[in-house]
Amino acid sequence: MMTAKEYEDSLRKLNLSAYMFGEKIENPLDHPIIRPSMNAVAKTYELAHQPEHEDLMTAVSHLSGKKINRFTHIHQSVQDLVKKTKMGRLLGAHTGCCFQRCVGMDSLNALSIVTHDIDAKHGTAYEDRFLKYLGYVQENDLTCDGAMTDPKGDRSLPPHQQPDPDMYVHVVEEKSDGILVRGAKAHQTGALNSHEIIVMPTVAMREADRDYALSFALPSDAEGITYIMGRQSCDTRKVEETLLDTGNPAFGGHEALVIFDDVFVPWDRVFMYKEYEFAGPLVEKFASYHRQSYACKSGVGDVLIGATQTISEYNGTLKASHVKDKIIEMNHLNETLFCGSLSCAAEGHKEPSGTYSVDTLLANVSKQNVTRFPYEIARLAQDVAGGLMVTLPSAADFASPETGKWLEKYYKASPDVSTDSRRRVLRLIENLTLGTAAVGYLTESMHGAGSPQAQRIMISRQVNMKEKQKLARRLCGIEA
Ligand code: SF4
Ligand code: FE
Repeated sequence: MMTAKEYEDSLRKLNLSAYMFGEKIENPLDHPIIRPSMNAVAKTYELAHQPEHEDLMTAVSHLSGKKINRFTHIHQSVQDLVKKTKMGRLLGAHTGCCFQRCVGMDSLNALSIVTHDIDAKHGTAYEDRFLKYLGYVQENDLTCDGAMTDPKGDRSLPPHQQPDPDMYVHVVEEKSDGILVRGAKAHQTGALNSHEIIVMPTVAMREADRDYALSFALPSDAEGITYIMGRQSCDTRKVEETLLDTGNPAFGGHEALVIFDDVFVPWDRVFMYKEYEFAGPLVEKFASYHRQSYACKSGVGDVLIGATQTISEYNGTLKASHVKDKIIEMNHLNETLFCGSLSCAAEGHKEPSGTYSVDTLLANVSKQNVTRFPYEIARLAQDVAGGLMVTLPSAADFASPETGKWLEKYYKASPDVSTDSRRRVLRLIENLTLGTAAVGYLTESMHGAGSPQAQRIMISRQVNMKEKQKLARRLCGIEA
């Protein structure tokens, strides 16, 4: 397993073609806007070496029998799934942001199931190929970006009917040694911190879409791949002289648009090629795993609740019964999120490939809560924090000899607490509910791993309505 330092050094060797603010980023790793997101992924390496976290952060590879980072592991039991949930909460709590590495783990597990199922139907050899690739990922402790979301163009049209054929990633040429692919993947979490990109389809497909039914893996710096960084609210606070106004100076997440401009993929890295009827199952498997992964939000919620309790202490409002009750409600919602992720893990089952899968219905119910509860937790945090969170002058004004003395005087609350501490915790709440981390805590909770309606469709498909009706009819005497 790599250490955090080795992970950082390994990223330095990548030659990524990445852009932000209209310019090529020569050294992404040291860019002040990207660096905090690298720090968050580095935590997944750091904690794996700490004895107190070893049980959650590491696993034994079913391929090699060696100890590996859990983020590269294929779940071999219900216990593995439960540990994955707990690992997500742990890392959310340690970073206060999206730590990005779950997407790759979820892609690897989904592919371990679906490559087996494709082979069973078509007599292909994808599973062997995939397991060799998995061995490489595990041996080198790599971070993978799981790339699912295509730009999708006109949402009313399937991939093959789009006016621009590149709106979904597709094969443009088949060669003897591999394929050339073109298209893009949007909203790619942690793309610039990844060694590998694992591409999967984003929708169920029919025969006419077969050129789009692809799954493959590429090194993140393969020729023809370009990254364009997404903006985040308050992102330029990270380039200011002092980082105090960022709220969470060390950690953050990032998303990027990833463009594949006729990129070559050798056959040994292709895991689905035109088996269109498996596009839907791969999407569903990945989505269920990733919906479970949103236990990360209960870890970030722990940070926000801690910050809210702290600001209430500093403001002197903690004894007010309505404040106490609001904090109880925040905890209730946050633990409910954790319950959902745990329950779909506890109800997991073994797939024909041997991989353990989460319960699909419960994973979707859990993620549906994630699209709502963090917003309510954030609302309550803002309620308790008060308006100063958004009217607080800048760190430069606090440092200024002319204005600093007034800010120190008038923003003092509890006599036992420094104005500096009060300011820091307010900035953290601002970061989590309005700033860069709100991308992960709020909007990503809404749309990541599928927007709310996607889960509602799955819930309607998964519930056994006939059985429920039978139960009701039996009790009221309609049927014997
Ligand atoms: Fe992982 Fe959560 Fe970020 Fe998704 S949003 S990549 S589950 S930390
Ligand atoms: Fe996500």
